[in-house]
Amino acid sequence: MINNLYEKLDDIQPELVKIRRDLHMHPELSNEEKRTPKLIADYLTGLGLEVKTEVGGNGVVGYLKGGKPGETVALRADFDALPMQDEKEVPYKSQNEGITHACGHDIHTAALLGVAKVLSSVKHDLAGTVVFIHQFAEEVAPGGAKRMIADGCLDGVDAVYGAHVWSENNVGEILFNEGYTMAAADTFEIGIHGKGGHGALPHLAIDPVVAASQLVVNLQQIASRAVDPLKAAVVTVGSFHSGEALNVIPDTAVIKGTVRTYDEEIRLLVEKKIKAAARGVEEQTGIKAEVNYKYGHTSLYNHQQQTTELKQLTERHLDQYKLLRMEPFMGAEDFAYYLKEVPGTFFFVGGRNPELNAVYPHHHPKFDVDEDTINTIGKVLLLSLLNHNVINKKHKASVTQ
Ligand code: MN
Repeated sequence: MINNLYEKLDDIQPELVKIRRDLHMHPELSNEEKRTPKLIADYLTGLGLEVKTEVGGNGVVGYLKGGKPGETVALRADFDALPMQDEKEVPYKSQNEGITHACGHDIHTAALLGVAKVLSSVKHDLAGTVVFIHQFAEEVAPGGAKRMIADGCLDGVDAVYGAHVWSENNVGEILFNEGYTMAAADTFEIGIHGKGGHGALPHLAIDPVVAASQLVVNLQQIASRAVDPLKAAVVTVGSFHSGEALNVIPDTAVIKGTVRTYDEEIRLLVEKKIKAAARGVEEQTGIKAEVNYKYGHTSLYNHQQQTTELKQLTERHLDQYKLLRMEPFMGAEDFAYYLKEVPGTFFFVGGRNPELNAVYPHHHPKFDVDEDTINTIGKVLLLSLLNHNVINKKHKASVTQ
């Protein structure tokens, strides 16, 4: 059955490229998507899927129920674009001023629509349900994933899979990684409340500038002294504001920063240490420190079993591709939230091709990838369904008739 589906996917590749280019020409910003979710919903409805729109905001979810009982597997593609100018010279260049698909979410969307199309043609032979999660607003925090989950997109789902096209790797490469793969990106804001006064009478004031300065220095000891040196943690204070006049001790100071980690344990440790450092300075100086620690996208953890199984199936069924290990990196991706709820994996598909001038990094104004990645992503996503027996080899005879 899988080979039959691959043939069908290859047959519709020109249509999928057309869809991708249409999306590329009409990119929309996070949380402002209108045309894109409508296009997706219309396409899925046309295939006979049950479709929910405005899921958690601008999300679209399609349900394809097979003719036989089985597991429910969700496949996710994001569809928002970035606030930057498209500087490529291609016929499918963005027509929306200052907005472009510079991360490849158009590719993801075309791939998932292709999977929906080929599967809808063999609907009765599927065992279980496929949930197509078309997610809005991946590029911002809080992203669309959390809101779509809260609105029920994972209800009854047994496993979830997603992909990212990857311009750092060549077309023809597929990358998997078990465990932590992308970082949690948190932010913090600390309000330091002292007691203002005359610059010449410091003994009558409680100086928030000195206390906040001390705190900034103490925060540097978290990553260097409290965290296992073999584990990653970054604590950066990027903003420090206090005072107006040079001879006045102000009432308050505010510092803001970002925290990047992989392990949840380290993330919690860093949060705890930031709060402890603030308490220490309170104790020492008499200021009041108000710590507001905000979680951004959580870190992305690929479940071992699903990653290994999908990797093995890819080796077996897509041996023309080169399989590599994805090196963990500090970028953030809100697919992480689905993986907190149900097991699954997020894989990467190389899209770099110098012949097509697809050589620029993600979020670069000239970013582009080889469109062969549409079907590569589609084929690996189909294997994830094979892994859960939604596509069942046993039913091959009835399908190929
Ligand atoms: Mn992305």
